[in-house]
Amino acid sequence: MKIKFFVNLPDPVKNNREIKLNQKKNSRQKAEVPDKAKSLFEKIVRTSTKERRELLKSLNDLRECAGLSYTLLALYRQQVESGFVLGDPLQPRGKEEKQFFDPDTGITFCLQWNPDRELRKDHLLLVERGVIAGDVDETQLINKDKKGNACYLCKTNIDRQNPGEVLLEIELAGEKFYLGANFAYITDNHFTLMNAEHRPQQYRREILRIANEFIDKTEGTFRSVYNGLAGASIKKHEHLQVTTEEFPLEEIRIKKEEDIVYANDEIRVSYPNYYLPVWIVEGKDKIRNEHVANRIIREWQSLNEHHTENIIAAKRGDSYRIFILLRDKRRLAGVGKKGGMAVYEAGGKIVLSYEPEADRTGEINERNTFEKANLETVKQLLKDISPEEHSCSLLARFVPTVLKFG
Ligand SMILES: [Zn+2]
Repeated sequence: MKIKFFVNLPDPVKNNREIKLNQKKNSRQKAEVPDKAKSLFEKIVRTSTKERRELLKSLNDLRECAGLSYTLLALYRQQVESGFVLGDPLQPRGKEEKQFFDPDTGITFCLQWNPDRELRKDHLLLVERGVIAGDVDETQLINKDKKGNACYLCKTNIDRQNPGEVLLEIELAGEKFYLGANFAYITDNHFTLMNAEHRPQQYRREILRIANEFIDKTEGTFRSVYNGLAGASIKKHEHLQVTTEEFPLEEIRIKKEEDIVYANDEIRVSYPNYYLPVWIVEGKDKIRNEHVANRIIREWQSLNEHHTENIIAAKRGDSYRIFILLRDKRRLAGVGKKGGMAVYEAGGKIVLSYEPEADRTGEINERNTFEKANLETVKQLLKDISPEEHSCSLLARFVPTVLKFG
């Protein structure tokens, strides 16, 4: 076991240089950022959110000269420096990380103790940081639920309720989306990608197109992830999440003989050994990749009304990779973890933050989970949320036939 404390000093320029180098690996583009882009980056980070018009103009200028990926890095840093993001992902304060290498899968699992996430429950702090407005005219808000809470992901509401948040518009798969930094971050450069239209969080095949197009527009620097109804905290409004950090699951070992279910010149489909069932679709042809992944997801959903999925889409070299994690709405939580487990946990990054007050006994204490954790803890958490085996093996029997004929 290796314990790693966060020792990186916040150095956005260094950090972004590393990301640019990764980008180079992925797109074989020049890693050099023009001087104009560097100075725009610094300017954006220093600009107050109150100077919104100026900020949006600089973001647009940066996007024109350096592309979307670099612009998002600048916006994220601005949202950290301005206090909207509750803590700095690059600051070590209060955070700890444990890593466990698993020789059976080749994955290095990661457990994170991140008390910054608990700040999202501190109302006064949220008002002070501009995460929520102190005074909102409720009559101006749209798409309210039965309790009268207005949708958190509609731009109209964000503009009125979240004064510290800056949204960037983007078109994907012919639809309009907004990107906003996740204030209760899990990883660095963690954004929510929300549809401009208020439509429910319900899987449709376009989700894969949207995920892959986003990866292309950021030259493989970002990953796109989608929580079906397993882990999505907002179910009324369609959204994905994006981040520059790699998921531990991406390193999974795929054995040629045993794990590959289907392969031809265009596509490779595998079902490797993991503690939560995962299907991996890889290939250079984006359309074919989406088609095959969609078929597997649809088959899974058709087996039982409770079936849902977590999706991770990433690019390695020029190959698109879609990871489909099979989930069941009745198995959302693992022992020792408070609340449901979503795509980050499913992808091998377990985030723990909840420590109850001393006088409240009997509650789950995630600090205890973190302290006692070893490789078995992680495996068990993933097994706890695995759907029943019978359904998973049924799907494993169907997939080769489905792929052969369609
Ligand atoms: Zn909405």
